Amino acid sequence: MTQVERHTYDVVVVGAGGAGLRAAIEAREQGMRTAVICKSLFGKAHTVMAEGGIAASMGNANSNDNWEVHFRDTMRGGKFLNQWRMAELHAREAPDRVWELETWGALFDRTKDGRISQRNFGGHEYPRLAHVGDRTGLELIRTLQQKIVSLQQEDFAEFGDYEARLKVFQECTVTRVLKDGPAVSGVFGYIRESGRLFVIESPAVVLATGGIGKSFKVTSNSWEYTGDGHALALLAGAPLINMEFIQFHPTGMVWPPSVKGILVTESVRGDGGVLRNSDGKRFMFDYIPDVFKEKYAQSEQEADGWYADPAKFRRPPELLPRDEVARAINSEVKAGRGTPHGGVFLDVSTRLPAEEIKRRLPSMHHQFKELADVDITAEPMEVGPTCHYMMGGVDVEPDTAAARGVPGLYAAGEVAGGMHGSNRLGGNSLSDLLVFGRRAGLHASEYVAALGTGRPAVPEDQIDSAAAEALRPFSAEASDPDLPQGQVAENPYTLHQELQQAMNDLVGIIRRAPEMAEALSRLTDLRMRSRRAGVEGHRQFNPGWHLAIDLRNMLLVSECVARAALERTESRGGHTREDHPGMDRAWRKVNLVCELSDPSGGLADTDPERGQVTLRHRDMDPMRDDLLALFEKEELLKYLTDEELAP
Ligand code: FAD
Repeated sequence: MTQVERHTYDVVVVGAGGAGLRAAIEAREQGMRTAVICKSLFGKAHTVMAEGGIAASMGNANSNDNWEVHFRDTMRGGKFLNQWRMAELHAREAPDRVWELETWGALFDRTKDGRISQRNFGGHEYPRLAHVGDRTGLELIRTLQQKIVSLQQEDFAEFGDYEARLKVFQECTVTRVLKDGPAVSGVFGYIRESGRLFVIESPAVVLATGGIGKSFKVTSNSWEYTGDGHALALLAGAPLINMEFIQFHPTGMVWPPSVKGILVTESVRGDGGVLRNSDGKRFMFDYIPDVFKEKYAQSEQEADGWYADPAKFRRPPELLPRDEVARAINSEVKAGRGTPHGGVFLDVSTRLPAEEIKRRLPSMHHQFKELADVDITAEPMEVGPTCHYMMGGVDVEPDTAAARGVPGLYAAGEVAGGMHGSNRLGGNSLSDLLVFGRRAGLHASEYVAALGTGRPAVPEDQIDSAAAEALRPFSAEASDPDLPQGQVAENPYTLHQELQQAMNDLVGIIRRAPEMAEALSRLTDLRMRSRRAGVEGHRQFNPGWHLAIDLRNMLLVSECVARAALERTESRGGHTREDHPGMDRAWRKVNLVCELSDPSGGLADTDPERGQVTLRHRDMDPMRDDLLALFEKEELLKYLTDEELAP
């Protein structure tokens, strides 16, 4: 029997970004003893890095805004592949979640008459993003953490123990969801600092682990984002959907190499920044797709007029959804009209006074000055696409955030699939985290309450095999009889670099069938080699060991991405096929569902040729009539088939 540290809770939340914290607050408020686990320090999550704002149709900047318009924009942005019920719930509930944050102590920027200010962002018809300068995520996390502290103070007053009903386990990584038969019974993981193993017994687990960006070479994501929650769900028997849809944000830094991929917020364009190529041409006018032609300005004069009078003029094409802008930049660079370092120019210096730039975009000003020695109040930035956000994720019930097929498992935030369809609009993630984080916490609590005392148990053999799997990198050489004694088989850092290069080059922003097939073959090779990924040294804070474990997750998730991308023979949102450039209405209603080939959750014995993941097609539920009625029939015809539109 493996020696592990043991705890028992009602609800375990894996992840302490916006989704995880909102879920934990809700579960605790429902009276559940709740644990929150995070891989890095508490407060260090992607949510804290969010810059531009949180999308909610409060109508403060334009009173025409309401949930129906937000719903329409979200569906258009996702090219109608969104799980429409999630998009509906999100649009309806986002304003309440923003107000709620203010009641918990957040302070958003204000309009002159004292209301929450809202800024423009790509794909949103009206100014809709509530924000705190360009540090919105920081305020969101600060507020949620403050709420957690206040709940802990209540518990201290009642029980004499701050952590009686809400405890944070920081710098702990979950490597397996444990099950009793079909139902969740807890989680297994290791403590990064000491290397000790732990089990938390719990009948409900909420996955809120964020994205997968570290599978790609150029990314805005930080080190934690290795697709852990996606892999944990797959291994627990839950399906993933929409894995072919990855958002390449159009504007990441391209220079110097050490910071390549770091995000340049969309607020720069929302606040007037324009994109130019090396000829000085404002090229986005050449890239407005037919489906958006009516809504975007056709000339610079019209586009510039929009900032002052949005009722009279159409919006600038720099504010098209991110997938369109990223593809346009890619094409300009490929055509030889890029900047010296392989990007395009993003210029706000000629558009706003220097003081205004520093006031509205303080982080961007600081970031470019510190990292690239560029003063954005005086010169343009060089920017290019960067892997940013995962639209695909755990297949969840829209109302409850319950993972399909695994009782007790829930998912919210970036790790959940469906909400954003094939492309997420900027600002729609922060609102998604709060809306579905709350729902996950609520429904996980209801599930636990309904169980009564008959809780699933944690089988000891699962703890033993999870421990063996986690510790295997320390004896990698022993598992390969062909290797000389004592030699470490494969370096996890080398494997990671090869994986990132393959995903970047072969399953990146523009995709072709032979390249994706090549990616799958390289993934097979990497998977076989990763079984021999070995490390030396002690279990105490050993980053090589941590990476060796993360590789399992990145390889699983990358295979899902490559398989689904090869299968979808059309271009839509974040998935662009050079060999199938058009959007195909027949594909619109199809979800590609990824499941583990070996349903027992084992990986070692899967056939290397066949891979670890199987794919099936599933038709999406038809959209409700009252939601369809929010669109003009002409617009729907661009997306839905004639049969779908038949009365
Ligand atoms: P995260 O905030 O990513 O948190 C994930 C948590 O899971 C972390 O605590 C991590 O430690 C933990 N974790 C991961 N794996 C494990 C494991 N195995 N065990 C234990 N814990 C684990 N969206 C917007 O709407 N507006 C914006 O302005 C915006 N700007 C952005 C700027 C940047 C630079 C980036 C990278 C993203 C931005 N986004 C923005 C996207 C948005 O921030 C993210 O999609 C969102 O924050 C994800 O939140 P989350 O709660 O799902 O996960």
